[in-house]
Amino acid sequence: MSLVVQKYGGSSVASAEKIKNVAARIKRRADAGDRVVAVVSAMGDTTDDLIALAKQITDHPEAREMDVLLSTGETQSSALMVMALHAMGVDAISLSGAQAGMRTDSVHRSARILAIEPTRLREELERGRVVIVAGFQGLTEDLDIATIGRGGSDTTAVAYAAALNARCEIYTDVEGVYTADPRIVPEARKLKDISYDEMLELASKGAKVMAPRAVEIGSVYNIEILVAHSTKDAPGTLIHGGADMEGFNRVRGIAHDRDVAKITLRHVPDRPGVAAEIFQPLADAHLSIDTIVQNASEDNLTDLTFTLARDDLARALPHVNEIAKRIGAKEVVADERMGKVSIVGTGIQSAPGYAARMFRTLSDAGINIEIISTSEIRITCIVPEDRVADAVRALHTAFELEKEAL
Ligand code: ADP
Ligand code: ASP
Ligand code: MG
Repeated sequence: MSLVVQKYGGSSVASAEKIKNVAARIKRRADAGDRVVAVVSAMGDTTDDLIALAKQITDHPEAREMDVLLSTGETQSSALMVMALHAMGVDAISLSGAQAGMRTDSVHRSARILAIEPTRLREELERGRVVIVAGFQGLTEDLDIATIGRGGSDTTAVAYAAALNARCEIYTDVEGVYTADPRIVPEARKLKDISYDEMLELASKGAKVMAPRAVEIGSVYNIEILVAHSTKDAPGTLIHGGADMEGFNRVRGIAHDRDVAKITLRHVPDRPGVAAEIFQPLADAHLSIDTIVQNASEDNLTDLTFTLARDDLARALPHVNEIAKRIGAKEVVADERMGKVSIVGTGIQSAPGYAARMFRTLSDAGINIEIISTSEIRITCIVPEDRVADAVRALHTAFELEKEAL
């Protein structure tokens, strides 16, 4: 008998009908003799709707209250899922994140997981019950509810799998991890498997099929993660740490993100410590900064540009304006209509020419590259938001990702 933690995403539980379908699937698995914990997301666009609802009340809701509100989305699906299981004669119980032992820090809306104390979870499993856990949420040391950031049900699912030493299966609305978002590139190819490193780069650069922190936890605890379709019985993609995989030495996939904003501080006095003076206050405000470029200075003045999630721009600007004043920068320029496109693959580190081919492809498509950043296995270009889809398609063709690797 094996123990499995499954996760069903928002679109897979978007209606009563879909919840019943997922319940039937869970029942089949339990009938086959497996012990099942299923982590569920909020139904469909519930999280977005709740955010919009709060906005109708105030522009500045307290983060703690937002978490109380947002956590109800997952609570709702967990209860409904258990009702569906009961109606099918399955012994099941729902647990909130708090009840399931998810302990987090108190950075509301992007809390980090500190520990899992799965005593209650284990007790329910011992009783022979299927346990449905509300994803995306936990309890702080002050006994407040916290949520762990958008897409966080993936992260909680992998964390429960690690805590229970269980297998981990992420069910979603596509058949697995593709060479690019299949909604943008219809000829994108489903990958049989992918390494943690490559998946982490893809996820953190926008491939939202998996949350980046979920991949990180999988990698640290060596939990293999299967990503598959929530209703079709097609083979999915296995995310794991094995080395011998298809198509070594080529680009594995392309990630994109349309929600990027760019901030430039112009004429920053170039002296030791100035970068810390800029980025420390932003870190203290829990603003996560992505690509950073600093130009070579002229007359001891330099321009410094960085990107962040578009949603964070309004919150970041007052901080940046204050920093600019303090350090004597001339002006702050923001552009919120940016996007990014990244090619990812372990092959990039060992073979030259990937960067040149990427830049040539974008230039042939008439797409201007604003910023470039790289890691050992990734090259990212910041481009105008309205050209992101074109960029992804052009790169997919240029790197022949629709073709099976030899
Ligand atoms: P869930 O609600 O199940 O968490 P998400 O919407 O968060 O699902 O993630 C699934 C979506 O991720 C897919 O519908 C697809 O559009 C998108 N996606 C982006 N990049 C990829 C990729 N490389 N492979 C598969 N799906 C991708
Ligand atoms: N409901 C949350 C969100 O929409 C968490 C998740 O679905 O993973 O971000
Ligand atoms: Mg998701």
